[in-house]
Amino acid sequence: MNQEERYRVLLQDLLAEYTPSELDKEALVITQQADELDTIQSTENRNMAVGRLSAHARRRQEIKLALRRLDAGEYGECIDCEEPIAPKRLQVVPWAERCVICQEAHEREQAHNPADAAGDSDEELPVASGWRKAA
Ligand SMILES: [Zn+2]
Repeated sequence: MNQEERYRVLLQDLLAEYTPSELDKEALVITQQADELDTIQSTENRNMAVGRLSAHARRRQEIKLALRRLDAGEYGECIDCEEPIAPKRLQVVPWAERCVICQEAHEREQAHNPADAAGDSDEELPVASGWRKAA
């Protein structure tokens, strides 16, 4: 098995690991509890599950992109400066898409522009304007 195949196996294992478990899905279901304390507890569990699921969804996305870069023969190359990413970094973060230097710069940039990092709260629902034209 060559190095690339090893990374592929590793990434596929990770992808399976970050797939939501039944337990996570169950925690998402809102149950009306008789006891107020139980309700608070289950709401808290739910919030934790939501946080975990969205973190895992992001990670799965990163892993899928890494697999795609493997297919394209671009795996282990920094997407910003195109320099090879240190193998030590890839061992720890196999889905890394940037070298350490570019990643730090990227994170600094995101800290200054949190607009696209935040995201899900103020989303507007799409307006179905196409419906009327049909008539
Ligand atoms: Zn770089």
